[in-house]
Amino acid sequence: MKNYLTASISESAVRHNIALIRGLIGDGVKLCPVVKDDCYGHGMDVLYPVLAELTDGFGVASPPEALALREKGYHGFILCFLSAYFDDFKVQDELVWQEITQTVMSKSALASIQAAAIRVGKPAKVHLKVDTGMGRLGVPASQAVDLINTIHECAEVNLTGVYTHFATADEADRADTFKQLELFKSILPSSGNLICHAANSAATIDLAETYFDMVRPGIAVYGCNATEHVQNIVGLRPCMSVKAKLIAVKHMRKGSRSGYGLTHEYDRDSRVGVVPIGYGDGYFRNLSNKAVVRIHGSDAPVCGIVSMDQMTVDVTDIPDAKVGDEVEVISSDPAAPNCVENLARLAGTIPYEITCHLGHNMRHQLVG
Ligand SMILES: *Cc1c(COP(=O)(O)O)cnc(C)c1O
Repeated sequence: MKNYLTASISESAVRHNIALIRGLIGDGVKLCPVVKDDCYGHGMDVLYPVLAELTDGFGVASPPEALALREKGYHGFILCFLSAYFDDFKVQDELVWQEITQTVMSKSALASIQAAAIRVGKPAKVHLKVDTGMGRLGVPASQAVDLINTIHECAEVNLTGVYTHFATADEADRADTFKQLELFKSILPSSGNLICHAANSAATIDLAETYFDMVRPGIAVYGCNATEHVQNIVGLRPCMSVKAKLIAVKHMRKGSRSGYGLTHEYDRDSRVGVVPIGYGDGYFRNLSNKAVVRIHGSDAPVCGIVSMDQMTVDVTDIPDAKVGDEVEVISSDPAAPNCVENLARLAGTIPYEITCHLGHNMRHQLVG
């Protein structure tokens, strides 16, 4: 981790996005932001106070993430999507002891949670996950009612919710999402007064019929659209910006080349700046010769191959660019060419991967 690279996280943008989501879902629906993978690289350390204040719980992927939230002093609802390893009794016990809501998706998972509850001497809290078409974790919808009944018979385990996860809510064609939704609804009559939830960001943004009792948006909280198919109809504000400084500026003659593989040839006498960020810091190598950074508000194209810890940018058209000047690597302006969504498109990936990779490699700082 390089301390001189900083991801600035905008508190006002997070507040704005949460207010937008609250506006969509209304008062009766709970908001459980998904904060897995260090808030998608945005930094739990800086975001925790804001999110704890504004939301009704947290969704995390792994047991360590759930336990870390308790260590921060959070006493509210935490839903953990993945289970502890079947032979890791220490973590299984800790999850029960700390009252983390665990996900049950099979009878064997139920048995190990029940065993932990007996060891700890405290009832375990669980939500049942139903696979309605994602084909990943979850009990097949056809066996869900049976498993609900089995859990109800198990005195040490409290079933408090039932949920599913959409595979294609962020695609233009919603047909598969509606199939999943119908299947999910078909088991709900057996769920009594359980908390039912299904919606990720894409569904939260424009599929009100998926809200049920709670929504689980992740990427929308951080201000990005899941994919290009989901239009920013609500006006989310990206919260992450990444800045570095120029550490060298040099002249390159017309016809000279630069970087590994000498892939970039200068077609005019040029000025080139060196920026101390590379793929080792999470800046994708396949943005080489494609992306831009911004210096003094102007675009500086990435020229040559992105190295592990540095890259070169063309500053010929920014004559006053000099060593020490600020380089905006990622812009939080959704219309900027170096916004997360545009970089994701150029790199052939999704915004999630851009923020996770960069965010894990730098310091986070909360800004207004
Ligand atoms: C990651 C995740 C979410 C959030 O997805 P986004 O597309 O970021 O909104 C919701 N539910 C589950 C089970 C997840 O794993």
